[in-house]
Amino acid sequence: MSLLVQKYGGTSVGNPERICNVARRVIETQRAGHRVVVVVSAMSGVTDGLIKLAQEVSPAPSERDMDVLLATGEQTTIALLAMAIHAQGVPALSLTGAQAGIVTDGVHTKAKIANITPRQLLRALDDGQVVIVAGFQGQTMAGQVTTLGRGGSDLTAIALASAVGADLCQIFTDVDGVYTCDPRLVPNARRLDDLSYEEMLEMASSGSKVMQSRSVEFAKKFGVKFEVRSSFNDNPGTMITEETASMENVVIRGVSVEKNQAKVTVEGVPDRPGTAAAVFNALAGARVVIDMIVQNVSVHGATDISFTLNQADLSTAEAALRPVVEKISAVKTTARAGVAKLSVVGIGMRSHSGVAARLFDCLARGGVNIQMITTSEIKIAVIIEEANVAEAARLAHDAFGLEHGPYTV
Ligand code: ASP
Ligand code: MG
Repeated sequence: MSLLVQKYGGTSVGNPERICNVARRVIETQRAGHRVVVVVSAMSGVTDGLIKLAQEVSPAPSERDMDVLLATGEQTTIALLAMAIHAQGVPALSLTGAQAGIVTDGVHTKAKIANITPRQLLRALDDGQVVIVAGFQGQTMAGQVTTLGRGGSDLTAIALASAVGADLCQIFTDVDGVYTCDPRLVPNARRLDDLSYEEMLEMASSGSKVMQSRSVEFAKKFGVKFEVRSSFNDNPGTMITEETASMENVVIRGVSVEKNQAKVTVEGVPDRPGTAAAVFNALAGARVVIDMIVQNVSVHGATDISFTLNQADLSTAEAALRPVVEKISAVKTTARAGVAKLSVVGIGMRSHSGVAARLFDCLARGGVNIQMITTSEIKIAVIIEEANVAEAARLAHDAFGLEHGPYTV
């Protein structure tokens, strides 16, 4: 008998029929001989609706109140799911984050989990109950309600799986798993059977947003094995695990794409210690999250520093940079929205050559201009025009033959 944590996202519990569907699935899992802890999100659209309501009553609601409000979304779902399971004659216990023993720090709206003491939860499991936990929420030591940041139910599931020593954490969603590329861009993209935490992180942070990145980091740190699969069918999903020896042969596992990016260049930055620090301190002070950073080799004592960021943060970044450009005697800042990042990801890249050449080649043949390039051990990423992104994704996917599965050697 194994212990499973199953997480169902917003669309999987999006209406009463779907909640009843989840109830059926959970009961089937229990009947197959497993102990089950279920973590649920708010019904789809509910969290956004609550945020909108808050904005309608106050221009600047307190974060503490936001958490009290947002936590109600998941609380609705646990109660409804427990009712649906009871209606089938199966015992179930609904628990808020606090009742499940999830203790967080006090950073409202983006709290971090400090520890989990799932006493009540384990007792209920021992009694043969299905336990249903509200995702995305916890409580501080002082008893304040907190939430874990958007998409935080994934983190609840992974952290609980670690705390109770689950055999597997299953993330049920509205797609069949993680694909070699977004199937909306590349119709012959394939579902991946498995991938490593690191590849999943690169795929997640480069746009294949099946799961919240923070929860993948947590899973990696604590070795929580998890599976991403659909709640609408019984198809096998994608298993995410520690890297295995055979994975090293996989040079390219997938292509991932992130739209709505912008690129900024600070031109003519004097080549002396402290100028880059000044630029990025100003951006950090404005809470702008930076993605790629590229600094050119300096010519005649000056250099260019380019970076990318979310398009939505562009005006904040420009405003933060204005005084700095003057202070460090740089020449000027140029900025452009409407770019996208395309990455090819695979752990075998660490020990194989020719990946960059193959990628750049296929883009060249398709007439796609590369504006910036960065690499990590297991990723090569390029910035291109957003208008080219679908074409570029298809070219890269083809170049590595990903329609047949991962590119191996
Ligand atoms: N309901 C929260 C959100 O929409 C948490 C989650 O769904 O994971 O972000
Ligand atoms: Mg989600």
